[in-house]
Amino acid sequence: MKVIIIGGGIIGLSSAIYLQQAGCQVTVVDRSDMLQGCSYGNAGYICPSHFVPLATPGIVRQGLKWMMNAKSPFYVKPSLNKDLLKWGWTFMKSATRSHVERSALPLRDIALLSKQLYEEWAKLPGMDFSYEPIGMMELFKTEENAHHAVQTVAEATALGIEARILGKEELQQMEPGVTIDAAGAVFFPGDSQLYPNQLMQNLLTYLEIKGVQFIRHREITDFIKTGNKITGVKASGSVIDADHVVLAAGVWSTPLARQFGINIPMVGGRGYSITFEDTPYKLHHSVILSEARVAISPMNGNKIRFGGTMEITPLNTPPRMQRVQGIVESVKQYFPTYDIPLPPAEKVWYGYRPCSADGLPYIGNVSRYTNVTVATGHSMLGISLGAATGKLVAELVTNVPTSMDLRPFNPERFC
Ligand SMILES: Cc1cc2nc3c(=O)[nH]c(=O)nc-3n(C[C@H](O)[C@H](O)[C@H](O)COP(=O)(O)OP(=O)(O)OC[C@H]3O[C@@H](n4cnc5c(N)ncnc54)[C@H](O)[C@@H]3O)c2cc1C
Repeated sequence: MKVIIIGGGIIGLSSAIYLQQAGCQVTVVDRSDMLQGCSYGNAGYICPSHFVPLATPGIVRQGLKWMMNAKSPFYVKPSLNKDLLKWGWTFMKSATRSHVERSALPLRDIALLSKQLYEEWAKLPGMDFSYEPIGMMELFKTEENAHHAVQTVAEATALGIEARILGKEELQQMEPGVTIDAAGAVFFPGDSQLYPNQLMQNLLTYLEIKGVQFIRHREITDFIKTGNKITGVKASGSVIDADHVVLAAGVWSTPLARQFGINIPMVGGRGYSITFEDTPYKLHHSVILSEARVAISPMNGNKIRFGGTMEITPLNTPPRMQRVQGIVESVKQYFPTYDIPLPPAEKVWYGYRPCSADGLPYIGNVSRYTNVTVATGHSMLGISLGAATGKLVAELVTNVPTSMDLRPFNPERFC
């Protein structure tokens, strides 16, 4: 079976691994060089701890407060764009307590499956993406977040995810090399860290050796439809034949999905990161600064990456350095001895998280065409859930029972 995967981010490449293993003839088509998109400069957390979807009652309240502050971690550029308004409305409707409760189990299951698969990948020949099971600490400063931390630990424990509160002193003992100004932390020993840039490079090399074909700098714009089948994709003018199509084009998937008769509301949640090598900033664990929503990732032995912000903005707006300044200033509030220099704009990486309208990914087949699978909308969890998504996609394409119940991720849930 000839499978065309649209998009060579983590979701497209993970799908390619399992489809190739299942005996498919796989071609990945990407309009870029596949070397710097959202799947590269992210924080690299593999995090079963993230069993709460982006759409929560708290984020809507907090987001409205943050919107007026140029350095805040969350920003929505006011706009009358119809798609953005629809997404916002759906997001607000989804952000309920019961949605959060319903999402916990599927998010836990896909994350645990993914973690297990990354552990397998790390042993494959040629794969060395610094997969490290170092655990993650969510630092908090305020009383409100201390209270929230206790709740989080209770919820995680109920789901079978190991979590515990670290008091100020224990937290300091876990990171003896740096002064920490925080009231405490939640520690998730089961989370892992990897170096996403290296993971993506490893995947490209591995897949090329396995015979997967890559077509770069070609944009898929249209499909050849014959009855209830897609028989080809149109890429920059020419046609490529297909027995099956996998849509994994990240935040750009929505207009293509419309051509399959489905609505997958999505916006780009722009985030920034800055990475330093051989610096005095050293941590033993991945860290999230809860109030500031900043992620700090020690990577690949000698690197450290600071990332954050969720900026809902049209995809062509220039990067805002105030947001990066906000990240740098937040770090100092928790690590007073860390004087992170603000790098020049060209050294700042940014990417667009494919944010679905309820914080859950869209994974599944479409009903109008018998040979189309959708895999996108992973928001802030595309790396964490990537390996499992790839396996699930291959199961859908080859029509074998899926490793988990995919109904919560149905791509037609907003149709
Ligand atoms: C600051 C930041 C930190 C993050 N930290 C983490 C983290 O710690 N853990 C985690 O799990 N996730 C994290 N994420 C989120 C994660 O990076 C994304 O969820 C993930 O990269 C999305 O992968 P994707 O394959 O869906 O999309 P992408 O990586 O965006 O790939 C989509 C690809 O499709 C191609 N494409 C689009 N349209 C077309 C077309 N018409 N024809 C051909 N090709 C097309 C694009 O060129 C692109 O290469 C973070 C994101 C940011 C911004």
